[in-house]
Amino acid sequence: MQTRQLNGKTALITGSTSGIGLGIAQALAAEGANIVFNGFGEAAQIAELQKQTASQFGVKTAYFGADMTQRQQIEQMMKDAIAQFGSVDILFNNAGIQHVANIEAFPVERWDAVIAINLTSAFHTTRLALPVMQKNNWGRIINIASAHGLVASAGKSAYVASKHGIVGLTKVTALENAQTGITCNAICPGWVLTPLVQKQVDARAAANGISIDQAKRELLLEKQPSGEFVTPEQLGALAVFLCSDAAAQVRGVAWNMDGGWVAQ
Ligand code: NAD
Repeated sequence: MQTRQLNGKTALITGSTSGIGLGIAQALAAEGANIVFNGFGEAAQIAELQKQTASQFGVKTAYFGADMTQRQQIEQMMKDAIAQFGSVDILFNNAGIQHVANIEAFPVERWDAVIAINLTSAFHTTRLALPVMQKNNWGRIINIASAHGLVASAGKSAYVASKHGIVGLTKVTALENAQTGITCNAICPGWVLTPLVQKQVDARAAANGISIDQAKRELLLEKQPSGEFVTPEQLGALAVFLCSDAAAQVRGVAWNMDGGWVAQ
């Protein structure tokens, strides 16, 4: 059997109990990386996910339920993951939430939560992962931004600010480590049909009195010229590339995979 390119590496993916994070965890595990899961969900389902990933891909798995709004919990998770595996070689900042409202009506506590989860948590995980990566002179930090890290939409002030912010954090992380084996890049997906987007589809169907299918079509065609969703598997393949030796000089990019969204 061909040697898998991430054998012996450990990847921690925030928000990996669902959606894009789960797709990325599975793609990295398929390349041999041990997986540290994080995110919310039913304890039994998460235990099953861990067990199934370990047996399907022959890797070790762990789960830490740190709430990404809580600095102390993030610090504990990073400490525990590094103690258990020796290092976190691949850090995937993926956990994210959305809230849609115009600025004058935007609930202040939702603003704080979006910024905390989508942006500040990545600062904490990054600052805590870097010392071990620097000691090993190898690391991959990948931040899931969004097409909304590059362009804006009305109603999404906190999300757009957090995603533009994480593109900035990506560039600084890349520059500060440019002469090392540590790279940092952002992936900017367009629409991916995950629970986060399903909520927006359901809200559109209810508001406009249309079917779920029609709401999906309208949502896509408003922004995404391909008219097709990006899939977690496609994002997983890009993640594997960014972790590879071939991507060693890809540094500080915000790589959109968005069906043409930001080409317009
Ligand atoms: P999702 O809702 O399916 O998954 C979000 C994950 O984050 C879940 O595992 C959830 O448990 C976790 N999470 C939420 N709050 C958390 C907290 N406080 N602490 C720890 N974990 C928490 O969403 P998704 O669509 O897979 O989104 C993943 C990332 O991709 C987000 O950063 C999102 O902004 C980004 N993104 C999504 C799309 C899309 O179309 N779905 C497009 C561009 C970017």
